[in-house]
Amino acid sequence: QASLKSEVKHPYPDWKKGDPVPYAALCTTFSLVELTTKRLEIMAHCSLFLRQVLRLTPDDLLSTVLLMINKLAPDYAGIELGIGESLIMKAIGESTGRSLAVIKQDQKEIGDLGLVAVKSRSTQPTMFKPKPLTVQGVLKGLMGIATVNGNGAQGKKVDGIKKLLSAADSTGNRKVDITKDKGGPSEAKYIVRFLEGKLRLGLAERTVIVSLAHAIVAHEAAQKGGVPSPDDITKGESILKTVYSELPSYDIIIPAMVEHGIQNLREHCKLRPGVPLKPMLAKPTKAITEVLDRFENQTFTCEYKYDGERAQIHYVAKDTDEELSQSAMSVTKEVGKGVAAIFSRNSEDLSKKYPDVLAKLPTWVKEDTKSFVLDCESVAWDVQEKKVLPFQQLMTRKKKDVKVEDVKVKVCVFAFDLLYLNGEAVVEKSLRERRELFHKAFQPVEGEFSFATSMDGQELDDIQTFLDESVKASCEGLMVKMLDGEESGYEPSKRSRNWLKIKKDYLSGIGDSLDLVVLGAYHGKGKRTSVYGAFLLACYNPSTDTYETVCNIGTGFSEAVLEELHGALSQIVIDRPKPFYSHSSGGQHQPDVWFEPKYVWEVKTADLTLSPRYKAGMKEGVDPGGEKGISLRFPRFIKIRDDKKPDEATSSRQVAEMYWKQESVTKSKGPAVDDDF
Ligand code: ATP
Repeated sequence: QASLKSEVKHPYPDWKKGDPVPYAALCTTFSLVELTTKRLEIMAHCSLFLRQVLRLTPDDLLSTVLLMINKLAPDYAGIELGIGESLIMKAIGESTGRSLAVIKQDQKEIGDLGLVAVKSRSTQPTMFKPKPLTVQGVLKGLMGIATVNGNGAQGKKVDGIKKLLSAADSTGNRKVDITKDKGGPSEAKYIVRFLEGKLRLGLAERTVIVSLAHAIVAHEAAQKGGVPSPDDITKGESILKTVYSELPSYDIIIPAMVEHGIQNLREHCKLRPGVPLKPMLAKPTKAITEVLDRFENQTFTCEYKYDGERAQIHYVAKDTDEELSQSAMSVTKEVGKGVAAIFSRNSEDLSKKYPDVLAKLPTWVKEDTKSFVLDCESVAWDVQEKKVLPFQQLMTRKKKDVKVEDVKVKVCVFAFDLLYLNGEAVVEKSLRERRELFHKAFQPVEGEFSFATSMDGQELDDIQTFLDESVKASCEGLMVKMLDGEESGYEPSKRSRNWLKIKKDYLSGIGDSLDLVVLGAYHGKGKRTSVYGAFLLACYNPSTDTYETVCNIGTGFSEAVLEELHGALSQIVIDRPKPFYSHSSGGQHQPDVWFEPKYVWEVKTADLTLSPRYKAGMKEGVDPGGEKGISLRFPRFIKIRDDKKPDEATSSRQVAEMYWKQESVTKSKGPAVDDDF
């Protein structure tokens, strides 16, 4: 709220109403954010700046927000950022007249290419003053670099980076002491970090969303000559969060918010086919009794928990007057009498992976069903035996450019929820109502499309029997969901207490497996000399945007898997740990090699314990002494989670909750939190 009360200070006197937003002004905000770790201060800096954009150049608001969250486009557009270190080093060298060897040496010493860029620029004499960079111009330049492909793409990328770097910092070429002020508000630093895919400001996307809500509420109040009430602020924040969770597209939301005002945003921005939403997730449980305790006096339903890949299926018939958004059209495929798309758990386009599912879609959609969004699991299917196959079979399917005639592993789609039907979002209806609608709108086709098997019995024995049946049917266990009332609505992007999962193999364990990021490895010994023998894993802390180490792992790998992992991981070796890795610094605890944060592995553990060697959960206060983090005892590798990005790994908070639960602090701390953004 500080940002709302204090006078708006103008960080850039040259920036006049209607001017394009100076990139230097954004970088000043970034550097202020970088100097603090306090969330409220970070939010105040961001919302002040966004207010300024709203007041002076509202047309640039979208570009500004995208640069703040380090994204060029929504995930389903498939635009890959994260340009490799070597290309960036080449561009820094060439644009500043320093040799690659010197740049590499600097990188070794400093460990942050952004700061290497600052150092390189500050030693370079300025011959002429290029035009100052604007937010729009930088976004366009970055987009060009990220999307160029085909012949000579590498060279063109380097040229694109050089062009931006040459124009960077033209508004005030300073000599900065990078060790003292983190490089200051250098444009080159933030351009380079954006290209690497991490701004490292500790600026989580949800903080930007909240700051944006504060900025618009304050701006609207100021236009009426007043200041917003705390109520307005809370309401604005909640509107923007809800709208974003149903329609995670800044391209649609921001222009609508500027045009119609935040209070009217929900009317203009509703869930719609074509824009994938972050799925609802479940909380783990260790015992059926825990489920019964949670749902005491409330009706619930149990469904099989299929072990496949989450698939959100969107469809619009051509003979409706609904218009798919522009962005949706770029990923949807013509299917029968309509267009459709399939999205993954993290909103990536799966349509190229499942053309066979899309081809069959018209057979299970009833004539009157004109548009829908379905939440499903796509599962490998044994055509002969007519039964579900293990997850590993599904993983053998090609991921891209699959041709229907080449498909060897057939899949059956098991739908378990309906989010949108015939022009209307149905997420707020009860699960019972959604189910009814869903049964009327679709017809099952054996081995191709089916409703998730469910059971509404409320007794412990019923659940136990159903759990046994699910295991016999090659499922992972059960999902237990609130069936009636407000709480049974679909909650996009939440890991909710209204969905519980019971997995067959953790009934007596710690509750769930963990999805962890591989940060480093140790060279193998004996039979494993040519591969990595063990690995350092970490969980993700979204509040600080860091990876916190949680275990070393060397169990659960076959020889073949170790070879495959060695091949993939040796491509992403880096000289030293990234500054956003939180790990022990003692020599004997250092892995032999460090990696870019790229791969997520599912890991099981016997239990959790505290150890001075690891950092997980320290910020959550798991150790009152503040010296120990959580570590996994007897961790075992289960599988690679291709469908999760590193920042979707198990969070430090979740690891802490598992630890607390195990310590028989049975109450889960705090309400359901946004899990994925
Ligand atoms: P997990 O490793 O358990 O899949 P996760 O983090 O991907 O973890 P969870 O919320 O823990 O997601 O578990 C729910 C997942 O189970 C969903 O993402 C979905 O892919 C799958 N699933 C299978 N059957 C169902 C069902 N009937 N209802 C909901 N989700 C289901």
